[in-house]
Amino acid sequence: MPDWEAVIGLEVHARLLTQSKIFCSCSTTFGAPPNTHVCPVCLGYPGALPVLNRNAVELAIRAAVATGCRVNERSVFARKNYFYPDLPKGYQISQFEQPLATGGRVGTVRLIRIHLEEDAGKLIHAADASLVDLNRAGVPLIEIVSEPDIRSAADADAYLDANVSVHRRGERLGTRAEIKNLNSFRFLRNAIEFEISRQIAILETGGSVRQETRLFEVASGETRAMRSKEEAHDYRYFPEPDLFTLQIDHAWVEDVVRKLPEMPHARVERYKRLGISAVDAEALVATRELSDYFEAVAAGGNPKAAANWVRNEVLRIGHFRIPPEMLTKLIAMIDKGTIGGKVAKEVFDEMAAGGEPPDGIVERRGLTQVSDPAAIREAARRVIDGNPTQVAQYRGGKAQVFGFLVGQLMKETRGKAKAELANEILREMLDSVAR
Ligand SMILES: [Zn+2]
Repeated sequence: MPDWEAVIGLEVHARLLTQSKIFCSCSTTFGAPPNTHVCPVCLGYPGALPVLNRNAVELAIRAAVATGCRVNERSVFARKNYFYPDLPKGYQISQFEQPLATGGRVGTVRLIRIHLEEDAGKLIHAADASLVDLNRAGVPLIEIVSEPDIRSAADADAYLDANVSVHRRGERLGTRAEIKNLNSFRFLRNAIEFEISRQIAILETGGSVRQETRLFEVASGETRAMRSKEEAHDYRYFPEPDLFTLQIDHAWVEDVVRKLPEMPHARVERYKRLGISAVDAEALVATRELSDYFEAVAAGGNPKAAANWVRNEVLRIGHFRIPPEMLTKLIAMIDKGTIGGKVAKEVFDEMAAGGEPPDGIVERRGLTQVSDPAAIREAARRVIDGNPTQVAQYRGGKAQVFGFLVGQLMKETRGKAKAELANEILREMLDSVAR
């Protein structure tokens, strides 16, 4: 059985959340009636001229710096020529030889480039006709192209368009097939898994994989040849004559960097400086919501305890409905010795169920930890008086009876005596009785 290795590269299209389209002032709002957000520019009328949307460029720079790309000082828009009914101009304005940004990485996957381009319209297939809606034509996109650094469908999960090829380990890379339009995580995984086994089956029976574009069919879970894969020269790229070279100066990039929210890896480093373990820190930045919640709890002044409570208890209940300031208060009550750890977990579950603040729950149920030495001494006196046999045994040197007596003392205080203090006081009293 040969040892096959899959090689997967991803081309991800991400929509930039601008108010207007990339080359005209039409709205990008989704869900409007067909062909209401259109103008001569995005309808591709002859003679209409594109004007670049500064905000689209800014958002693309933002994506580039967030993924560690180098933003190129000069980049060039290019016409990508092809015919399709949802593309009235007969070409898409994209970037080819000189993209906006190069390099960078997402996790362990290296990026080749990020470039700006416009989206096409949408075809709607009715029973007896196909209709075209051009509201989406000209919506700004970035295409994020990765190196073929991914080796399994699971690794590829976070991406949409995939290039797949297989080769025997140690041999040169195989011919690749491109799978188009994978618009859900599940389809992406299924399509890649199908494609890997399809290519292995061909190669194992002595065949060869054709370089082509394939379409994933949801019903069968298979990929099907769509067309032989175009090469870049099929598109007859040439620089877009209606737009200037895009010049991005250093100051603009610096400004975007300054306005960028803190990235997850930076948060991890900051959490570690607060004394949180690397494993906990990584877990806490899994989502923005979790990370923000943790920070709100940690603001109460005990970040390590906050990390423990959020990682263990909040993730256990699976929601963020306990206001962070209530959890902060609970942690403070433990720190102050008002309640012990065991009682705190009970209070937490009640907070999760009913939304009552922790001090209210403790008060109502009388859960306050007893750390008043006089009260504990009084209870210890009752235990000593009530268990003369065991006290005598302890005095006689039977040390293990102490555990029983502590148990009685905890029972006497309904579990609320502060454990260390109860131990200390009881031992002291037993020893003085012995003397
Ligand atoms: Zn328009």
